[in-house]
Formats: sequence, C-alpha cells, structure tokens
Amino acid sequence: MTTAVCPECGKVGTIRKILWGMPTVEAFESGDFIIGGCMVQGDGLDPKHGCTECEWEGTFVRGKVVSE
Ligand SMILES: [Zn+2]
Repeated sequence: MTTAVCPECGKVGTIRKILWGMPTVEAFESGDFIIGGCMVQGDGLDPKHGCTECEWEGTFVRGKVVSE
C-alpha cells in the first residue's frame, strides 16, 4: 500500500486503510490506519481507504481505485 498514488493529490504512500468503529490501541498507534470513527453507514459502501494528505476517501484494490 505504500506505493499507492492518491488519485486526488497525487502523492505516493499516503493511502491508508480506514478503520471504522473503535480501533484497538495497537492499530491506532501503528499509524497504518486512518481512524474512521463510528460513522459507519452499515450498507457496505463505506470507503475502505483514505489519504493522509487530502480529504480523498475511496477503495483501493491492488493499488488501483475501484470506487470513490
Ligand atoms: Zn491525497
């Protein structure tokens, strides 16, 4: 995931998985995730990934954007 390019700001390595709900302390401190909080839609359409540099959120599969 570190080589993923953000489709919004074009930066490399800024894409992180979004962790919805309450994260574990380990996940929070690892820096590998964006903490999405408790605002889960519950319809399966919540974005899976986000950018740490801009507001982009979406879903990446093998480094490619599959939805926004
Ligand atoms: Zn970005």
